[in-house]
Amino acid sequence: MNIPFLDLRKVDEPYINDLRHALDGVVSSGRYLLGDATRTFETDMERYHDMPAGSTVAVSNGLDAIRLILKSFIELGRISPGDEVIVPANTYIASLLPVTEFGLKPILIEPDPSTLNLDWHKAEQAITPRTKAVMVVHLYGSPCWNGNVARRMRDNGIYIIEDNAQAIGARALEAGLNGNDITGTLGHAAAFSFYPTKNIGALGDAGMVMSSDPNVINAIRTIANYGSDRRYHNIYQGLNCRIDELQAAALSVKLRHLDAITLTRRHRASLYNELIHSPLITKPLVMPDKCQVWHQYVVRCPERDNFREYLKSNGIATDIHYAVPPHLQPCYASLLHSPLPITEMLANEMTSLPIAATNDEEIAYIASVINAWRP
Ligand SMILES: *Cc1c(COP(=O)(O)O)cnc(C)c1O
Repeated sequence: MNIPFLDLRKVDEPYINDLRHALDGVVSSGRYLLGDATRTFETDMERYHDMPAGSTVAVSNGLDAIRLILKSFIELGRISPGDEVIVPANTYIASLLPVTEFGLKPILIEPDPSTLNLDWHKAEQAITPRTKAVMVVHLYGSPCWNGNVARRMRDNGIYIIEDNAQAIGARALEAGLNGNDITGTLGHAAAFSFYPTKNIGALGDAGMVMSSDPNVINAIRTIANYGSDRRYHNIYQGLNCRIDELQAAALSVKLRHLDAITLTRRHRASLYNELIHSPLITKPLVMPDKCQVWHQYVVRCPERDNFREYLKSNGIATDIHYAVPPHLQPCYASLLHSPLPITEMLANEMTSLPIAATNDEEIAYIASVINAWRP
């Protein structure tokens, strides 16, 4: 067998006619930005997440969604350059870049090695009088939430921002600050990404901000359109972070299939869980049924590089999320030099197995190859 890590043609194949039809509608409308398709996608996302009308802004990509959240908090006077923001050390660099871009001070917190997500107790211990926000990342599609700690933080004036790029449709074990348990609604504001490889991907770049706070939403809608609240009147030094109508139209099509996509990913993850039994491999933590959306299926093994070579020689492509953690990237060499041993160990042990378009037969093959590994 020859199993690619991810084949987007296979991922999008079931929707191709609906996508063509939706794109065609935009092309013949002559309206390419800030039109009906964008408004419809925003409404579709609000309904899916059981959020009030006017609680989303569809934007250019996931990184910009995080940038807009932080910039709006700065413009609204809630946080200021120099304030501390708690960020998980085990994350994609996009969770961190906007923090340093706006002169905020990142405080990197080690993950819980069983969940691979932020360790909330360590995060709470790291709070100082300058801590103004926590970036909660639901990495690999697993909800990262501790209601008690989050509420204590909120009561101390700390904003909870979710980076929900990898976990659309996931549910936390307990309710968020507003009583809803779906990720993206748990804290004060959330960023979504529709990068093509995400659980629902655009045909290019797209993202979204979600917040039940109308002040945040209004500020972000304005900042994302040059800071202009009406034509040629700029109340912020804004950005251009608009979403294309084409992407919004494609995403409304995909969102209709999100629950089916999630169920399929859960099925694949449970097959892996059932079939992999090599003592050399640590499987991911499995939470109750409705929680995880399995953006990645990440296994651990101390001899990771040999393991990946072995899989490759058996026709199985894998990936690493992420091989070099943000604090060890060259761009942060002078800024973030403290050692983070758990994050660094995970970066050396983690392997992501194919999950986005893999069928049962392929998963059974991958599991049997893994179980036969004798390093
Ligand atoms: C993909 C991703 C982002 C960034 O999203 P883009 O749409 O690629 O800009 C941010 N955070 C995490 C955790 C991601 O996986």
